[in-house]
Amino acid sequence: MTEFDYDFFVIGGGSGGVRAARRVGGLGKKVGLAEEFRMGGTCVIRGCVPKKLFVYASHYPEYFEDAKGYGFELGDISFDWHTLMSNKDQEIKRLEGLYRKGLESSGVEIFDSRATLVGPHEVKLHATGETVKAAQILVATGGFANSDPHLPGAQFCINSNGALHLDELPKTIVIAGGGYIAVEFANIFHGLGVETTLIYRGEKILRGFDDDLRDHLQETMVAKGVKLILGETFARIEKLDDGRLEAILSGGGTLFADKIMMAIGRSPNTHGLGLEHAGVETNEKGAIIVDDFCRTNMPHIWAVGDVIDRVQLTPVAIHEAMCLMQTAFLDNPTKPDYDTIPTAVFSQPEIGTVGLPESKAAEQYSELEIYRSVFRPMKNILPGRDEKMLMKLIVDAESRVVVGAHIIGPDAGEMAQLLGISLKARCTKEHFDATMALHPSAAEELVTMYEPSYRVKDGARID
Ligand code: FAD
Ligand code: NDP
Repeated sequence: MTEFDYDFFVIGGGSGGVRAARRVGGLGKKVGLAEEFRMGGTCVIRGCVPKKLFVYASHYPEYFEDAKGYGFELGDISFDWHTLMSNKDQEIKRLEGLYRKGLESSGVEIFDSRATLVGPHEVKLHATGETVKAAQILVATGGFANSDPHLPGAQFCINSNGALHLDELPKTIVIAGGGYIAVEFANIFHGLGVETTLIYRGEKILRGFDDDLRDHLQETMVAKGVKLILGETFARIEKLDDGRLEAILSGGGTLFADKIMMAIGRSPNTHGLGLEHAGVETNEKGAIIVDDFCRTNMPHIWAVGDVIDRVQLTPVAIHEAMCLMQTAFLDNPTKPDYDTIPTAVFSQPEIGTVGLPESKAAEQYSELEIYRSVFRPMKNILPGRDEKMLMKLIVDAESRVVVGAHIIGPDAGEMAQLLGISLKARCTKEHFDATMALHPSAAEELVTMYEPSYRVKDGARID
């Protein structure tokens, strides 16, 4: 090798960094990767994976209730938080090992160290103090959970990291925020029997999602027993002598809880990274500024994932890493494609969605056909569970293309993944109609909604 120790050096062993390092290592390049905490990053260690394991756990009390309708008599049921916690930790350890193995088998040299930039090509490894030189560098340092610096008593609150590592399951929790994390954790804790309050500054949770999904989820959560406080924030938090917390709300009300969790967004992790020594520019939120190919203003330095603050989702970070590999190492300039990203909110009931919400579609298309069905899924009937499922297709009346598909109900996320293919392929409503139903299933509703429920013309609903 020439003047460089590495062809490619990656800072951050999360979703984006690991994928890029593995793929570039697989091309026979000399690759190094530094991770300061645990291999796998937010998704594996303190995000998607542990969260989803908790989601599964939180469904069981309802399953036990519903089992009676199917003839099962269950005896005394108990739940042990410590067992869940330790099994979850074991699984994460296993996955972390797999991530390491994957990197090693691609020839990537791993550094268990914080890394910062000390020059345009120079990366300092803090564990040893050595500085290495790399021809190309990827910054994939992810994000961190926001706290509210203006909130007196903010230091008494936990965030999602803390929520995934509680020594004891609290009896009461208050969660602030109305996005993915607040909603998912409110459902997790409520499902596990914790008295749960969600406090959100707006009037309807999950801003940006289709309004039907937002209304349906909000109503169902309240019906299940989650306390929802809308249009308010915390004014201050105080710690009581017995260790419990008191939240004084902007409207003057008061809440008491064992734990208070903030889930008010995440910010790019660029502080103290030495970007200025390498000449890399960031925006006012601290996100690394990149072009359409994830290249920073320094042509040999790249950034992907949450640190560029485009779409904070694991598959997006991975996709950006794959595109970067094509652009930087295979002479095949490839822009990440952010169009039509399927996503789920693992609430109860679950949301699965892809494409445009009705309000956004109405801004983009002059006429829409809306196909909408609300029904009780068959699995809820014998248990007597009065919980409905909602499915909605949004069709551009002119081209007939389905531009949005929204589901709330059991397995909605799984359905959204598959619908993602149809929407990506720009399937028309006629393709949906021509598809044979699979019976009996809930998903068959998606191919049997023959008449529009209503139309939207120039932004106005026509019944
Ligand atoms: P990360 O995965 O955050 O990786 C960055 C890594 O860089 C970290 O391991 C960090 O320790 C390391 N690092 C930072 N600075 C340095 C440094 N200076 N030196 C060395 N190492 C450093 N997305 C989904 O798609 N589905 C979900 O269900 C989902 N659930 C989530 C639940 C929670 C609670 C949270 C917080 C996030 C969730 N996300 C989910 C989002 C998803 O986890 C992130 O979008 C994704 O992990 C971003 O990947 P990344 O590679 O950009 O960063
Ligand atoms: P989100 O951006 O989804 O939501 C943040 C919430 O906090 C919004 O409701 C926002 O309100 C509110 N908020 C922001 N600032 C304040 C404030 N100062 N005071 C009170 N409320 C505030 O962020 P999350 O933290 O929930 O999650 C981060 C990201 O992680 C998500 O955007 C998502 O990309 C990813 N994620 C994905 C998951 C999945 O795929 N299932 C699960 C979990 C996380 P407003 O709407 O009014 O701005």
